[in-house]
Amino acid sequence: MPEVKRLPIYEIEKSLLEALQQGGRVIIQAPTGSGKSTQIPQVLYRGGFLVKGEVVILQPRRLAARLLAKRVAAELAVKVGGLVGYQVRFESHISPETRIRFVTEGVLLRQMLDDYLLKRVSVLIFDEFHERHLYGDITLGRALQIQQEHRPDLKIVVMSATLEAEKLQSYLAPCQVLQSEGRTYPVEVAYLTRSPERKKSEIWDIAALETIRLLERHTIGNALIFMPGGYEIVRTVELLKARLSSKEFEVCPLYGELPPEEQDRAIEQTKRRKVIVSTNVAETSLTIEGVQLVIDSGLVRMARFDPNRGINALTIEKISHTSAEQRRGRAGRTAPGHCLRLWTERDHEFRQEKELPEIYRIDLSEVILALKASGLKEVSLFPWLDAPLDESLENAEKLLRDLGAVHYQNGEITEVGRRMLAFPLHPRYARMMLAADHYGCVPSMALMIALVQGRGILLRRVDKETEQRRDDVLGIDSHSDFTRVLSAWKHAKEAGYSIDVCRGLGIHAQAARQAGKLAGQFLTIAKKRGLSTEVDLVDGNELGKCLLSGFSNQLAKRMDKGTLRCAIVHGRRGNLARTSAVQKSPLLVATEVSEIEGKKGEVSTILSMCSQVEESWLRELFPEEFKEESITSLDSSGKRVVDRRRRLFRDLVLEDKESEGVSDDGAAEILADQIVNGRCKLPAWDESVEQWINRVNCFSSLFPEFAISSIAGEERRFLLRQACLGLRSFKEVKRLDMWPTLKSWLGPEQAAAMEEYLPERYILPGGGKAKVRYLEDGVAILSARIQELYDVKGMLSVADGRLNLKIEILAPNQRPIQLTDDLESFWQKTYPEIKPALAGRYPKHEWR
Ligand code: ADP
Ligand code: MG
Repeated sequence: MPEVKRLPIYEIEKSLLEALQQGGRVIIQAPTGSGKSTQIPQVLYRGGFLVKGEVVILQPRRLAARLLAKRVAAELAVKVGGLVGYQVRFESHISPETRIRFVTEGVLLRQMLDDYLLKRVSVLIFDEFHERHLYGDITLGRALQIQQEHRPDLKIVVMSATLEAEKLQSYLAPCQVLQSEGRTYPVEVAYLTRSPERKKSEIWDIAALETIRLLERHTIGNALIFMPGGYEIVRTVELLKARLSSKEFEVCPLYGELPPEEQDRAIEQTKRRKVIVSTNVAETSLTIEGVQLVIDSGLVRMARFDPNRGINALTIEKISHTSAEQRRGRAGRTAPGHCLRLWTERDHEFRQEKELPEIYRIDLSEVILALKASGLKEVSLFPWLDAPLDESLENAEKLLRDLGAVHYQNGEITEVGRRMLAFPLHPRYARMMLAADHYGCVPSMALMIALVQGRGILLRRVDKETEQRRDDVLGIDSHSDFTRVLSAWKHAKEAGYSIDVCRGLGIHAQAARQAGKLAGQFLTIAKKRGLSTEVDLVDGNELGKCLLSGFSNQLAKRMDKGTLRCAIVHGRRGNLARTSAVQKSPLLVATEVSEIEGKKGEVSTILSMCSQVEESWLRELFPEEFKEESITSLDSSGKRVVDRRRRLFRDLVLEDKESEGVSDDGAAEILADQIVNGRCKLPAWDESVEQWINRVNCFSSLFPEFAISSIAGEERRFLLRQACLGLRSFKEVKRLDMWPTLKSWLGPEQAAAMEEYLPERYILPGGGKAKVRYLEDGVAILSARIQELYDVKGMLSVADGRLNLKIEILAPNQRPIQLTDDLESFWQKTYPEIKPALAGRYPKHEWR
């Protein structure tokens, strides 16, 4: 058994056991290599914490979960899968005896869906928490809730090499923080003096060259090279093997997709000097003995939302200062070391202090769905360590609604949503797997999804000849861009993934091989979940329908025949890529939507990796979101009412046809609206109409016994609609006569009574006729010349004496002199004053 008792972590053994006896939460901060991951589970085991249940250790990486389980099993002299086990995305090695279980973060969250209270778990350890993966964050939040509400006995331990202890401490409060310093030796850092020309030499060329130089200068200790991913590692290893003597050196790759034996070999101790080329799994998750040289590419593959593909993807990015420091530390665990950074000191200054937590980098739909499935009603009330941006939450909810994973109205998880969670895939792909089950094409779908996970198997930049050959061999299918990719994969497989054959066709052999393997893993899961993997009906339509079910929010309709312009669901616009084979279909689904900035800064949206869609599929797949409506509205000129028949998918108009078959009522309604809002002129509605309405309203209020309705806004609209019945266009409205409609407002008796009681002309005592105007506020005004009023004494009234008239006194030229209620006082006061002037001006008239 290896000597582990001397590891620094044992300094805190006693205090850890005490802390866990007293409380439920502990933070352990200790440098990499101190023994956190391998020893703490054993400390708990020996300390009697695992009598009733297991300790589950969450790991961000599959590779680490497996290797740690193996190491701990070896230290305890047991087999992996017994007392010590592990579970990662596609593999499970556990049994009822398992007490120490290493799992990747996603596995535990999914498990919480079936076993919400984590009944078998006594202690939950969050390892490598400083990496701040989304699943880690969420699982910790959930675990705290469970502990608080249902499981006060559950122990939670958060471990990390570097921690923002204060923030975390208040998040976990009450909790104890235990620290162990560990022992390290100094590591000297060097940078490149000039930025390498990336066009001439790739990162693996530089790394190999510099590593060989370093190994010549420093003749003891192992070397550890950090590369972003499997591809770069393979290239580096090839170069190193070609130039280093195999007697003296053993060159080992270390990355997740490598067969287990090779992974094991990378961390085993050997007699020869070792050169390990690894992903950042060796940064803090794993410790490799005897490393004294670190060569750091400064790059990492990191999960980030890829807006083009609408999914999360791995992109290669520059590491932060914190991460570079961790990598440097790997050279100083057992003796002083050296670290060469393959970037310049100036470049270093511009790098970020630390990585952004994943919650700010990736699409949240998968975890939001998982949270909802675990019974969380209000996502915003979740106890986040760092709360996600509102926009990210909204986007996630929107996508889940479009996928049918949550209800459109209340956002609650649906049956489909629950079934989707069985697949450890982005919700779009999970939805596609379910659709494939329905349409009987699970194997092909599994392959298709595997093919789009990575960067694609068709090389992007190939020469003309290769392109031509590729077109000849693979063909072009105007129904789908995917046919070509599937065909490329089949060719690669038939050629045994031969690098030469693949290169000749512009196919990435390694990616094709990996896709095949991944498809196999998807199939295994599908089978376990009860999907029918035996049948594989593929006539193109099935695959198209499945694609549509996962990408329905990227359904596009060609806007015209002459251009590539498309309208996309949710009110967006874009252009079909010229390179897409789907040039003829009026409806299509795009699985990639990229925004490209033009020379003048204008942004255009390009749709690629498309597949043809039939309208009938939309009805079939989304019966509730497919609408057919017939609406009466103005035509394109805006001056004529027509009938529009529209078919829509969500807000995307599939067809919009005008026809003449409009109902009279519908047309009159629209024309009346247009008249009211002033867009359509109605000359017939003039001052005399307003006068008449005032008169009717006056009559209505003075003579309730006649039961006449007054005319306000609603009634005006009604009258307009009545008048417009039978009309269709603005032109006809122009010629309309309003009076027949207006007159019909009153019955014959009512009309006669109004004529009698509220006359438009009033017969004065002298026999002359004077005009009476009715105002809006119920006031009536009689206008007459002075001479016509000489015989008038006292008040004048209409409406059988119910309404006194105001009098507008006019000069002989019809100009108003005064408006008065009291004619007597006019004669006495005003008249004598103005009479001389008027008489002078109009001598021919009578001036009494
Ligand atoms: P930490 O989690 O604190 O980084 P680990 O528990 O992973 O530390 O490792 C503690 C020590 O155990 C390492 O420093 C190393 O010496 C030893 N060790 C761990 N795993 C292996 C392994 N697979 N092979 C050899 N030694 C190992
Ligand atoms: Mg560790």
